[in-house]
Amino acid sequence: MPSTPTPTLPCVRVLATGGTIAGAQTSGSRGYQAAAFSIDTLVAAVPQLAALARLEVEQIAAIGSQDMDEAVWLKLATRAQAALAEPGIAGVVVTHGTDTMEETGYFLNLVVRSEKPVVLVGAMRPATEISADGPMNLYNAVAVAAHPAARGRGVLIVANDEIHFAREVAKTNTTQVGTFKSTHRGLAGLVNAGRLHLYAPPVRRHTAASEFSVGEANALPRVSILYAYAGMGRELIDAAVQSGARGLVVAGVGDGNLNAPALAACADAVRHGVIVVRSSRTGGGVVERNIEVDDDRLGLLVAEELNPQKARVLLMLGLTRTADPRVLQEMFFTY
Ligand code: GLU
Repeated sequence: MPSTPTPTLPCVRVLATGGTIAGAQTSGSRGYQAAAFSIDTLVAAVPQLAALARLEVEQIAAIGSQDMDEAVWLKLATRAQAALAEPGIAGVVVTHGTDTMEETGYFLNLVVRSEKPVVLVGAMRPATEISADGPMNLYNAVAVAAHPAARGRGVLIVANDEIHFAREVAKTNTTQVGTFKSTHRGLAGLVNAGRLHLYAPPVRRHTAASEFSVGEANALPRVSILYAYAGMGRELIDAAVQSGARGLVVAGVGDGNLNAPALAACADAVRHGVIVVRSSRTGGGVVERNIEVDDDRLGLLVAEELNPQKARVLLMLGLTRTADPRVLQEMFFTY
């Protein structure tokens, strides 16, 4: 699917949030400051973009994505939804740090109601680094967002010549440019210097067909993630409940398992009205109901394939609609 320039180029809105793609080294080759460059500077550094699309840029935030939070998600989702509602906009690109890109991407995948492409893009090397990956990633992201074949596939993440579904992708390496992997259902496609090769569309509900919308992001309830380990006690689970969490996601060992003290604390949390979802710290596989843990008896939910950070996003949005564990469990089978 070549991106042949047409007399009237598509218009793509670029929403910038910062990250390493906008990062500058501070001294030598070690250490850098994320979000040092404005989006105008990044776009100007890739003049080839002018042959792909007309770009409109908007700076939403200027942060490393370790500082991403619900307030920025809300602003980003609102601005993306507004852009996509404009008939003249073909798609949206979001520049973003890679640390939490998967969470932002999955959040947008659940709340942005549009068939038009939304593409998150970042870089592993700062803009001033040797062989910076940002310029080609940005070029590819704009090519995907401008292409009609990318419509209806949910929110996508472009990096290292690959196109990932936001639901599937995870950052798996601290520094390598090939950090993003989609281990369960595979890639959304490839993009070679702006030329798209799209694979099968996603099967889970998303974007235009989602029951969630931007308005609900206004009052996201507190959901905490707790990481399980050999010899885990109950104290952190109890602390999360006492601090007012409405939901807990446990990054369980193996198949989402927890030892007896942690399970007892989770069961107590459920009795206090807190929703508890079992995910896994392994980075792959499906957590199913009632395998080694009696979820039915304890009142626990499972995250299926969602990693803990994405399970948290879905649980926060789910809790804005219901506190019924059966309905919430169904959401984990749907999205
Ligand atoms: N911590 C930074 C961020 O997420 C750097 C990671 C990156 O962008 O690659 O914004």
